[in-house]
Amino acid sequence: MYITVIGSGYVGLVTAACLADFGHFVTSVDKDAGKIKRLMNGEIPIYEPGLDEVVQRNVQDKRLTFTTDLGAGVANSQVIFIAVGTPSLEDGSADLSQVEAVAKEIASAMNNYKVVVNKSTVPVGTGRWVRKIITDNLKSKEDFDVVSNPEFLREGTALYDFTHPDRVVIGADSEKAKEIMREVYRNLYLIETPFILTNVETAELIKYASNAFLATKITFINEMANLCEAVGGDVQVVAKAMGLDGRIGPKFLHAGPGYGGSCFPKDTRALAKIARKYGERVSIVDAVVEANENQKKRMVEKIRKVLGDLQSKKIALLGLAFKPNTDDMREAPSITIVNGLLAGGASIKAHDPEAMVEAEKVFGDRIGYCQDVYDTAKGADALVIVTEWNSYRRLDLPRLRELMKDAILIDLRNIYTPQEAQAAGFRYVGVGRS
Ligand code: NAD
Repeated sequence: MYITVIGSGYVGLVTAACLADFGHFVTSVDKDAGKIKRLMNGEIPIYEPGLDEVVQRNVQDKRLTFTTDLGAGVANSQVIFIAVGTPSLEDGSADLSQVEAVAKEIASAMNNYKVVVNKSTVPVGTGRWVRKIITDNLKSKEDFDVVSNPEFLREGTALYDFTHPDRVVIGADSEKAKEIMREVYRNLYLIETPFILTNVETAELIKYASNAFLATKITFINEMANLCEAVGGDVQVVAKAMGLDGRIGPKFLHAGPGYGGSCFPKDTRALAKIARKYGERVSIVDAVVEANENQKKRMVEKIRKVLGDLQSKKIALLGLAFKPNTDDMREAPSITIVNGLLAGGASIKAHDPEAMVEAEKVFGDRIGYCQDVYDTAKGADALVIVTEWNSYRRLDLPRLRELMKDAILIDLRNIYTPQEAQAAGFRYVGVGRS
């Protein structure tokens, strides 16, 4: 099949590369000419493990091409994926301006029947709205369908997630569109991936409901961690015991500095907004949004408490990306933490295995950047682990202690045990470990 994917970011590029790997002929479109130029030169603009190989293979086999020419891509394709950004507006609702612009451009390039697929995370009702925009802007009277096909991939494991999803959700109102979508994902049918075929509105809601539920699970264990600190409990043990209950499950029960990233924060806010728009309230989601903000700020207080005062303290910070295996800095907890520490008068040297370039766009020269973990720790009053990259799990603690001014390890991801840190001479502070 001939497919165009509009937006070559974390979701669009992975979608385009994987669909090409499935055997389709895919055009990956972006309005960012710099990004497309880099892709045409064989450079991958984001850090996503394994993506370079899949892109290269499919470019070589001539199944994957890159362009800024949206119209040409659309005219030559039967299926058009929209994978542009839907960030938060000031009031928490989803900003659909990128989707709107793309829908208008699709309409002008429409030359025969097409399936327009919303892969961006969009509020309930967007499918219908996109249908109207396209209808209103068509140059000639062409037939088309709008489908909702939300994406559940996780940055860092995006290729595996796209090619081995727990489920594929397709919301469509016509049998023809459903049949074409089945063909798009034929490879996943063959490995017996569960398919949820439903209407557009249900599919749109499934994505928000799933993300809000996961955000709730994280927030729940974070609140248990805070309670553990107050009562003398250990959240690691609480989470383990809870997770062994088959009804609960162990995933997303890791206490930490609060969730961040390009999805959970904006999607929880948007879901709360959608509910209000329809005269309902998702009070759990409202509470999750608030508790998560507090959790990030609480980390600054935790560090302040350990150090007594932040003024003139030197802090070594490990991990800036919102999670390991990505360079994505969107709404990373490190942002609240760094800003809070700087506001308190501390100075920061930071390290991240992949996100330093993106981090510099956020923090500029307000913090120092080190290429090496041990350089980061030199002369520091405290070492703070913010993101649990694998490379931070086996640090030479005695060497770090030697390099630091004061032996304080603040482990916001609980990747060390208090015992091993203490054995290396550190004062250890985790999350939810009294
Ligand atoms: P992103 O910002 O990385 O990529 C979006 C791309 O769209 C950018 O490269 C931008 O230049 C391009 N774009 C914007 N307007 C355009 C236009 N008019 N024409 C062509 N290109 C245009 O965003 P992302 O992280 O890939 O997210 C995309 C959508 O997928 C969002 O709705 C997001 O919520 C959803 N989603 C993201 C993830 C994730 O892990 N990142 C997972 C699931 C769903």
